[in-house]
Amino acid sequence: MGKHIHNIKHQYLSLRALKEKIDEDSIVLQIDSQAENYMCKFSNEIQAVHFGDSHQQVSLHTGVAHTKYGVVSVCTISSSMRHDPSAIWAHLKKVLPYLKQLNTAATTLHVISDGPTTQYRSKKNFFFLSKVPYELGFKKVTWNFLEAGHGKGPADGIGAAVKRQADSLVAKGIDLPTGKVLYEQLLNQPSTVKLMYITEGEIEEMDSLLPDGLLTIKGTMQIHQIVSTRPEEISWRVLSCFCADPHPCQCFGLKKVNILGAQNMETALGSPSSSTCISTSPPIIDLHEGLIGDWCVVRYDGNPYPGIIQDVDAEGCALVRTMSHIGKTSSSGL
Ligand SMILES: [Zn+2]
Repeated sequence: MGKHIHNIKHQYLSLRALKEKIDEDSIVLQIDSQAENYMCKFSNEIQAVHFGDSHQQVSLHTGVAHTKYGVVSVCTISSSMRHDPSAIWAHLKKVLPYLKQLNTAATTLHVISDGPTTQYRSKKNFFFLSKVPYELGFKKVTWNFLEAGHGKGPADGIGAAVKRQADSLVAKGIDLPTGKVLYEQLLNQPSTVKLMYITEGEIEEMDSLLPDGLLTIKGTMQIHQIVSTRPEEISWRVLSCFCADPHPCQCFGLKKVNILGAQNMETALGSPSSSTCISTSPPIIDLHEGLIGDWCVVRYDGNPYPGIIQDVDAEGCALVRTMSHIGKTSSSGL
């Protein structure tokens, strides 16, 4: 086992629904976890020798945004090879105002990213997502992690397309010695991808915003959704849920955490008045192998399904065999 089938299916279906029912209040941005690198080129390679044969590398961060008014592709170009949270947020700080221009009414930002990359699950990323979007006019943020093994994302082809366009410029005799020149030359070309340029200084500026003593969240690899509804406040859960959207819901054991370290205490968010919650079942906070064989309740598309935990892996994912919830006696694996 260890295939996390339930998580893959749940994340895929709930995030696809999110994109399909996009309204004026929200923007959904799916970003590519793997920044693409591009080697700067000269049309006449003899010139390269004068530059000490050290071709400059450029990194490309890409994304696909869904708004009520359409789908747009974005690509930021930087001479910095950093792929850490500061680099990601320098990228987002450029992209988000552009998306806000496309739909000025949007107040909720939903980010979708791959799950395996640790930089997205780091406390620095969590801090930035509870901070930067609010400064840009958003009032609510969710960050959703796709489960490993979901396949290629829509943003995966954008970097390759930009690189092909750059190569065709070189073939026409245009030198692309630096990221900045690459950006300026590509701007002159017809393209459906919105290009932006990020300096190393802009990434270092993000570094300077990080406070000391940020707290790590326990069980980070279990997290599939971060929710923030107030600056510098975040909650997390093991699967994404939008069942009460645009209102918050408490499904999958939504748990508020303090990452700033002002008080070193995690607070469980309990809301007995919420009818969408299974109040009789406490959320499973720490998945461990001792739970294999235990009954649990899986919330799926707003419905509770009883099931038996079949497998738990090191990343904190559980495989649950559930029973159909309306009148059927046969079991069905998710
Ligand atoms: Zn819910």
